[in-house]
Amino acid sequence: MTAPIINGKQISEEIRKDLREEVERLAKQGFKPGLAVVLVGEDPASQVYVRNKEKACHELGYYSEVHRLSAETSQEELLALVDKLNRQSNIHGILVQLPLPKHIDEKAVIDAISAEKDVDGFHPVNVGNLMIGDDSLLPCTPAGVIELIKRTGVEISGKHAVVIGRSNIVGKPVSLLLQRENATVTMCHSRTANMKELTQLADILVVAIGRANFVDASYVKPGAVVIDVGMNRLENGKLAGDVDFDSVKEVSGPITPVPGGVGPMTITMLMQNTLIAAKRLQGLA
Ligand code: NAP
Repeated sequence: MTAPIINGKQISEEIRKDLREEVERLAKQGFKPGLAVVLVGEDPASQVYVRNKEKACHELGYYSEVHRLSAETSQEELLALVDKLNRQSNIHGILVQLPLPKHIDEKAVIDAISAEKDVDGFHPVNVGNLMIGDDSLLPCTPAGVIELIKRTGVEISGKHAVVIGRSNIVGKPVSLLLQRENATVTMCHSRTANMKELTQLADILVVAIGRANFVDASYVKPGAVVIDVGMNRLENGKLAGDVDFDSVKEVSGPITPVPGGVGPMTITMLMQNTLIAAKRLQGLA
């Protein structure tokens, strides 16, 4: 039997509808959440991401500022802008689009963003708070992954979750969040021996490796929830996940497609983070 498809686009729309309603309520009190996005250089993929973020702000009624800087911008100039945005009272979320040009130290820039406005959830204070289970702004894609699993109605608590990939932006935070939801978590990576034996035990399988169609049905326990974070551009221009969707959906439980699964959730979680940050900074949380 073919698995139910987890419709990330629809779930994302449902969450955005709630956000829009809350922003309308706040607008009546004369308050608007504000997001600043900073883009350095002309990377085409980054330009698309930034445009989408700007569009989401517009649709949801947020105040938005986009700072498009030339690829020659110095680190000092970028840090000065971040400092200005940190102090700007109508800005509650700051996102510096990565990757940055090679002459700029990404870590120095992320560290300079005020932790309260770090809506990407990459600042060491937010990463540390996630680690120790304190309140923090969560990284967007991992938060989206957890939301998708929850919306399947499958209980996470007590389940065995396997995460393939251990990057700082996806694999590691997803593992921590699953653990926070009381799953027992196994992390796999490129040096994992006998990975299939581990993934075949997973009730929940999250794949974030960056290899098109890598995980086929032989990796998957029948009925398991499968979340595919991968976004790989094929030679024919099409987008493919890390999971071979057509074969896996014949054995798995609820499964995300690519596109239309995790992807739409990332910007939605960014908008949610901006609203959370805005309410906290305004003393409304
Ligand atoms: P990354 O930084 O390159 O990390 C990849 C991880 O996968 C590493 O931990 C690596 O292991 C592991 N890995 C690579 N090949 C493997 C293999 N054959 N078997 C087991 N593990 C393997 O990538 P990322 O930033 O986490 O992104 C992963 C994917 O998610 C990419 O396709 C990316 O485009 C996508 N992504 C999507 C979104 C979204 O919004 N949907 C957001 C972010 C990322 P080692 O640590 O041992 O090298």
